[in-house]
Amino acid sequence: MRLKIRITGLVQGVGFRPFIYRLANELGLRGYVLNDPLGVTIEAEAEKEKLDEFLVKIDKEKPPLAKIYSLQHTFLKDAGFKDFEIRKSEETGDKKAFILPDIATCSECVNDIQNQKDRRYMYPFTNCTNCGPRFTIIRALPYDRKNTTMKAFKMCPDCEAEYNLPSDRRFHAQPDACPLCGPFVSLYDSKGDLICEKQEAVDKAVELINSGNIIAIKGIGGFHLVCDATSEQAVDRLRKRKFREEKPMAVMFPDLESAKKEAHIDLLEERALNSIERPIIILKKRPDTVLAGSVSPDNSTTGIFLPYTPLHHIILQRLKKPVIATSANMTDEPIVKDETDAFKRLSKIADHVLSHNRDIARRCDDSVVRIVAERQVPIRRSRGFSPLPVALPFRLKEPVLALGPYMNNTIAIGIDDKIFISQHIGDLDTPLSMGFYEETINDFLRLFDVEPGVVVSDMHPGYYSTKFGEKHFKDRLVKVQHHFAHILSCMAENDMPQDAEVIGFAFDGTGYGLDKTVWGGEVLIASYKGFKRAFHLGPFKLPGGEKAVKEPVRTAFSLLYETFGEKAVDIDILPVSEKKKLFFLNMIRKNINSPVATSMGRLFDGVASLIGLKHKVSYNAQAAIALEQLALRSDDNGSYPFIIEKNVIEHRPLIKKIVNDLRSGVPGEAIAKKFHNTVVDIIISVSESLRKETGLSTVALSGGVFQNAVLLEKAFSKLGEKGFTPLIHQLVPANDGGISLGQAVYGHYK
Ligand code: ZN
Ligand code: ZN
Ligand code: FE
Repeated sequence: MRLKIRITGLVQGVGFRPFIYRLANELGLRGYVLNDPLGVTIEAEAEKEKLDEFLVKIDKEKPPLAKIYSLQHTFLKDAGFKDFEIRKSEETGDKKAFILPDIATCSECVNDIQNQKDRRYMYPFTNCTNCGPRFTIIRALPYDRKNTTMKAFKMCPDCEAEYNLPSDRRFHAQPDACPLCGPFVSLYDSKGDLICEKQEAVDKAVELINSGNIIAIKGIGGFHLVCDATSEQAVDRLRKRKFREEKPMAVMFPDLESAKKEAHIDLLEERALNSIERPIIILKKRPDTVLAGSVSPDNSTTGIFLPYTPLHHIILQRLKKPVIATSANMTDEPIVKDETDAFKRLSKIADHVLSHNRDIARRCDDSVVRIVAERQVPIRRSRGFSPLPVALPFRLKEPVLALGPYMNNTIAIGIDDKIFISQHIGDLDTPLSMGFYEETINDFLRLFDVEPGVVVSDMHPGYYSTKFGEKHFKDRLVKVQHHFAHILSCMAENDMPQDAEVIGFAFDGTGYGLDKTVWGGEVLIASYKGFKRAFHLGPFKLPGGEKAVKEPVRTAFSLLYETFGEKAVDIDILPVSEKKKLFFLNMIRKNINSPVATSMGRLFDGVASLIGLKHKVSYNAQAAIALEQLALRSDDNGSYPFIIEKNVIEHRPLIKKIVNDLRSGVPGEAIAKKFHNTVVDIIISVSESLRKETGLSTVALSGGVFQNAVLLEKAFSKLGEKGFTPLIHQLVPANDGGISLGQAVYGHYK
């Protein structure tokens, strides 16, 4: 196996390459290390365990002067290196367009704020050249204090001295500050009246959280809503006020040790928790956890992260217990970043607001990752990662702007061989999120100082992003099919060469098809230049369209209708009245607002409803997640029949058998598991038939359905066993957050 690592930071001229060389030889790795314009690139080959060890040791044993600002890694198919070498440096490339992400508080700064003798004792804005905010304080380039939101604060003589002393850890640390000269926190009530400031405000906030209040706390890329995660009452109140019924909320722990008591954490998960990016990691809760049940109801997993600002450290050290730290926004609205906005939009949710007077230049939500198949798989790529580029295996002809999809939107800018992907923007559903979207596009074009030669959008005529492209870039707009963009993004981040061809499984909830129907269970033969739709899931109708997405029971009925015809009305499985069934039937038969779909995501929804798990959902993919959770509880290795005829994957035999199982009392766990196994069987069987036909053996797995760990893990290992090379996402999400990367790549080949 091959591990590819790209590191940015102070890694040149500090003995970094010799260190890597020595470590690689110690572990018996083959490959190379190379200085490039943005830092260092490493490729290493060995068994997976050795590579994991290598990854952990780079973090732990790096030379004292080396500073890592970002470390992106991907496990790839081996390339057959003979030995380990230090390669000659690459001179090409532009260093100018290089903006660091926000970096979690380093251990030295944590020491400073905990040291009673240090002048930064308990100071919530402590940072140094190795840590602190970057992307979210930069107003313009070059990255100088006067171009950041720290401009408002004039350094005191002590800070100025550090800033100018080359041997100091704070030499040219742009956000450098201290209690005398820097920003400070203030506590307000929900109406915006000031209560107290500075240390007093922190003390009071801790007290308020302890007694069950909800506090909006201003952080790096926006506000969090914070409350005691062990208090059922507090969490429940937050849910009610936020109108967030069941979607899991992230929990921040004081430190690794306290997190380990409540969740199962393996080596790679620990590395991710401690990484400078500090994403939220989806972890399995321990059965006896102190976390309130309403943190992630009906869910064996929950999102966990560690403090990444001095303020987090100070508050959590004092509280000594986990807190909910969820983005401060209403559903489908962008995260709140300004005080005035906080008072306006959060006054009905938060009891108090702990704000500070350092402006946030741009919003940036927390990132979310999950360890699947022993790899770090992004669910949301935002703070800590954005705006770092994903490097392409080739150079773009001209600068590209990718407008992204509609759900989980990100945008991207392509320059040379790099694609800079924006922070998470979200669903383009509300005027506020559309505003954030336009803001981000203008922001990226200005920051990277680029005039795109080509602009790429989705094909869906109704997407706000497509309309935006048509309005502003009509002269150079090209459109790319949604599922092709998914596969392109997976190919690009896996370093596939320009002449590569793959078998691509793009499984998601929805995407505009070439035939104008709802696609989502698509098997493509794809190269960078184009694709052929080789197979697709058998079509079924979605009675009510969008309503069927919110109410999986509609899809379940439709699947029954496809399988049993009008007899579906007599099948006594779904908890709906006969009248309602006849109503659905009428819609389907008369084609009233019942779009045709080949969507794998909807099939998961429908099966979840048939089993009786979820008939209505309150957040995206909730039914599919419930089905995955249920499958985890079974070790049934069986599967259901399916038929592949011409280029259609027939789901009717599968539905028939599930109904049989339900009637004969087979437990839901087993049915859920067998359904997952069946989807894996479909992937293997289709891949084998396409390998026979085309000779291709590389299989790309993309689309939101592949966030399902049970499915991804099993498909990944089975494909490997059968001699295929599976490609999965490790740099951008498999969901629509990764679409902008695929679109940007398409811009080169349009
Ligand atoms: Zn630091
Ligand atoms: Zn100072
Ligand atoms: Fe999609």
